[in-house]
Amino acid sequence: MNNYFKKPIYLDYQSTTPIDPRVLTVMQNSLANDFGNPHSKTHYFGWHTEAIIEKSAEQIANLIGANADDLVFTSGATEANNMAIRCFLENHLRKKNYFFKNKKNIITVKTEHESIIQPCQLIKKEGCKITYLKVNSKGFVNLNQLQEKINKDTLLVSVMAANNEIGVIQPIKEIGRICQDHNVLFHVDAAQAFGKIKLDVNDMNIDLMSISAHKIYGPKGIGAFYIKGRKNKKLQPLIVGGGQQNGMRAGTLPTSLIVGFAEAANICANKKEEEVSNLKNLHNKLYEGLMKIPGTKLNGPKENRILENLNFRFQGIDADRLIVVASELAISSSSACSSVAGKSSHVLKAIGLNKKDIKSSVRFGLGRFTTEEDVDYAIDIMHKKISHLRKKAMFH
Ligand code: PMP
Repeated sequence: MNNYFKKPIYLDYQSTTPIDPRVLTVMQNSLANDFGNPHSKTHYFGWHTEAIIEKSAEQIANLIGANADDLVFTSGATEANNMAIRCFLENHLRKKNYFFKNKKNIITVKTEHESIIQPCQLIKKEGCKITYLKVNSKGFVNLNQLQEKINKDTLLVSVMAANNEIGVIQPIKEIGRICQDHNVLFHVDAAQAFGKIKLDVNDMNIDLMSISAHKIYGPKGIGAFYIKGRKNKKLQPLIVGGGQQNGMRAGTLPTSLIVGFAEAANICANKKEEEVSNLKNLHNKLYEGLMKIPGTKLNGPKENRILENLNFRFQGIDADRLIVVASELAISSSSACSSVAGKSSHVLKAIGLNKKDIKSSVRFGLGRFTTEEDVDYAIDIMHKKISHLRKKAMFH
């Protein structure tokens, strides 16, 4: 790579976050010192890394009010989501778990991440019924529909805590209560919410949760699947091998990634009020600045959305074109995962947007390292580029 191109301003924090320097420091130390295999039981090097992993698991679990023994480390939230959807059902299909009897239906939401939707498609082929709940025009899940659809055949309800495209925060506590009333397992994909909003697995009656380090300024390639009372729930693992993590997920645990994950979680747990109010100011500033562009609408709700996210549609503008001409900013027209698949946004479709509106929508992600100057610059660039594209369109 040459230095000819200036690096754009990073405004894509839902896709991933840069590593926090404090996380990097503990990881560098760990990489240098904690090389032992944490599953080696016969010497110091194994005991040392095993103890470090136990401590890290506690720090991560603390953030969601969980018991550290109930976490299974995974490669990220995608793997954890796959476990949530596939492991219980496979157990059931193999008739190893009589607790679940004949339950094999799953209820989820139209706006879930592909790492929920795709496993659901897979298990549908095994005879499992999947119900996708609707959302309203702001992206909130329809709780009446959940009440209507949940029944004695429902094995699991899976709802994301915060949406990766429009940032909407779902009423997790209410959903947890409904699941509890019907004795149904409740899974939460918290990839975008963990470390950002308060989550408590007991208070919210959450049985299963997926989390990921790289959305909270930690390393990529590490996440966790929380299973309440894991010791009493024998699950069919997705990955088999050396029987690590009590047989739930084989493979040598990556100590330094886990240490980085724990440090990132710790930093979130000890977040200063100042960081939150700073982010709120940036969020409001960007919102107000971009709403001044004629023909601009916010996608998703104004309230009950993670401060890190804003998503707008700019009337008559082709978002992909805008992203190219506004190359000073690193922004996106949909989630990184759906841009890999080349699909248009199923989330924006679910909130009722037509094709034209979907094509004119852009996601802006803010975070810990965004400055006021970044936001001022982004507003200025968007005003200029949108007006330029509109002028150009007039002459065609
Ligand atoms: N769920 C949501 C809501 C996400 O935003 C993401 C990441 N885009 C994932 C799951 C997948 O997480 P990971 O990258 O850790 O596999």
